[in-house]
Amino acid sequence: MNKDPFLLSVLGQMTLEEKVDQLLQLAVPFFEGADSAGQITGPMAAMGISEQTVRNAGSVLGIAGAEEVINVQKAHMQTNRLGIPLLMMADIVHGFKTIFPVPLGIGCSWDMELAERSAEIAAREAAVSGVHVTFAPMADLVRDPRWGRVMESTGEDPFLNGEFARAFVRGFQGTDLEHDAERVAACVKHFAAYGAGEGGRDYNTVDLSERQLREYYLPAYKAALDEGCEMVMTSFNTVDGIPATGNSTLMRKLLREEWGFDGVLISDWGAVKELIPHGVAADEAEAAHKAIHAGVDIEMMTTCYTKHLSELVANKKVDEALIDEAVLRILALKKKLGLFENPYRGADPEREKEIVFSEAHRQAARELAIKSCVLLKNEAVLPLQPNQKIALIGPFAQSGDILGPWSWTGSQEDAVKLDQGMREYASRLDVARGCDIETATEAQWTEALAAARDADVIVMALGEHSDMSGEAGSRADIRLPEAQLELIRKVKTLNKPVVVVLFNGRPLDLHGVVEHADAVLETWFPGSEGGAAIADLLFGKANPSGRLTMSFPYSVGQVPVYYNAYNTGRPQGAPDAQIKYVSQYLDIPNEPLLPFGFGLSYTTFAYRHAAVSSDAMTVTEPLKITVQVTNTGNATGEETVQLYVRDLAGDVVRPVKELKAFRKVTLQPGESREVEFVLSESQLRYYHANLAHDSDAGDFVAFVGSNSRDVVELPFRLVK
Ligand code: BGC
Repeated sequence: MNKDPFLLSVLGQMTLEEKVDQLLQLAVPFFEGADSAGQITGPMAAMGISEQTVRNAGSVLGIAGAEEVINVQKAHMQTNRLGIPLLMMADIVHGFKTIFPVPLGIGCSWDMELAERSAEIAAREAAVSGVHVTFAPMADLVRDPRWGRVMESTGEDPFLNGEFARAFVRGFQGTDLEHDAERVAACVKHFAAYGAGEGGRDYNTVDLSERQLREYYLPAYKAALDEGCEMVMTSFNTVDGIPATGNSTLMRKLLREEWGFDGVLISDWGAVKELIPHGVAADEAEAAHKAIHAGVDIEMMTTCYTKHLSELVANKKVDEALIDEAVLRILALKKKLGLFENPYRGADPEREKEIVFSEAHRQAARELAIKSCVLLKNEAVLPLQPNQKIALIGPFAQSGDILGPWSWTGSQEDAVKLDQGMREYASRLDVARGCDIETATEAQWTEALAAARDADVIVMALGEHSDMSGEAGSRADIRLPEAQLELIRKVKTLNKPVVVVLFNGRPLDLHGVVEHADAVLETWFPGSEGGAAIADLLFGKANPSGRLTMSFPYSVGQVPVYYNAYNTGRPQGAPDAQIKYVSQYLDIPNEPLLPFGFGLSYTTFAYRHAAVSSDAMTVTEPLKITVQVTNTGNATGEETVQLYVRDLAGDVVRPVKELKAFRKVTLQPGESREVEFVLSESQLRYYHANLAHDSDAGDFVAFVGSNSRDVVELPFRLVK
């Protein structure tokens, strides 16, 4: 329990009702914004909360804009009896006004510095616009591209997700959150294992062994907390039969007691009340009872706490000490952010004009967008030449819908569209829409084919609109919509080179695309500078360097398919005379179409002289792994050298490969560099059957290469 005398004195002056109201987060449906005097307006009465409660509420979700925030806070400070300021929270996920690529795209950059910088810029823009807390990073591990929210994750690898979670937290919070008013507190979400919903359907049941949870799903949240992340958000899903928001084992025992997290825990949107339809609470009072016991401090969106906690305390069903603890955590965060001294922290209309969407921020967005794109195929058609006659076709040719989900603060209008970016290079560019995302007309086809017929090369800008991924954006069929596949088939009949540029929020099933396209560039949702960044890549001003952090399935029928999977006891290939019953699909390969770590460049890299410093390592003597990487092509390029490990005989089954480290190297044509990794025993530890985190003496294989499939094998032993 917090012993800060100032906070205890504030707490001491609060009535029980004021304390309970402090746990409420006012969210959009409770008010329609604020009037010019800063009074929160809207149908509060209909939601059953009094004006008194609004005056006492502890936080607000979703207001941004310096002037509006200042007005709201000013009005609040005048009406709140004890002058306790509001915390302003918002989802600033991949940028505020300057929108960066979606997190899955940022993941594919494998670039922690740029990731951190993107979060820093998002924090600065949000902070001067009055935001105190962002609901990011999302550290959920994802293995199922049917789930729409994979675009908010950095991918399928626990280690890499942890590195990104740290980078994002550093960027949002900086090193001195207390005094640096242009940073925001981060809230890691969604605790826990939200990404493992059955069937890829959003909000669905998660059922994992504790070992699976600890080994693969928890490390990235933990990494965020180790980096000092101030807040945690619960997830909607069940964990071992109990919804996370009412799950004491997960929240109180693991998060609070075992990990020592003493920051604010907020429910996800409406998740306290959802304990009722989940079927673990009979009514709102029981939902409140479960959530407060589980350790949830702030109830987002619903009002189970507001309506029932006082009465539960009066009836001795809830100890007031639990409420005091929750209030103290919230007050402590307010104090840390300096809000008691300056309730308007950061909010500054002048700074807002100066830095939001500034040239420097947009440059950073362009740089990260360049690094996030992954070249999936290139049969000598890219880069394009400025003097070629180019037809740009497809629903994304001129679309502003390239910001992606969770970009509510951004402006589609201000985004650089693909045609605008390409015009910076191409003097002969014809644009035709060709079809909409999901439908097409004869007239659209006719216009597109006329443009294509005339061109030397056809660039097709295709994909999913931003509502096809993100929250509640699950899809069972993850191919491009049929209207776009039909457009590709029609264009292909012209027998001209076709470059497909993809805009989407998940790994797609690329059937109907890869076999017809000569080149495919995956750009995800690249953000405000998307069109400029893509043009830089298409015309070779920049060289593609993104690497997939999520496997692209051969077909949705394989899903989940991820690189760090287990072997079965059976051969995985075709049956032979010895073993007829093998682990295979009768109709498709086992392997994904494109593996984790994959991505092409306009140059090529050779891996030579891979070596380990010794055939054995010990607990005190790490192993050195070296490899010489050479740029064997004609363009300067950046390679991501990847190190994987396999434990050949574990206490429990170990993945066929696990990423342990990576290095990015930029090489001129002909240049070689020796890349060295140091692998130590602690990197070989994992959760054993008894949940001990330990390593096994015995045989291992290290793999070095340019992706999880194309690797050189180096055997070694761990001697203990
Ligand atoms: C999402 C969260 C988000 C919250 C507030 C929820 O529906 O799951 O990720 O932070 O809404 O907008």
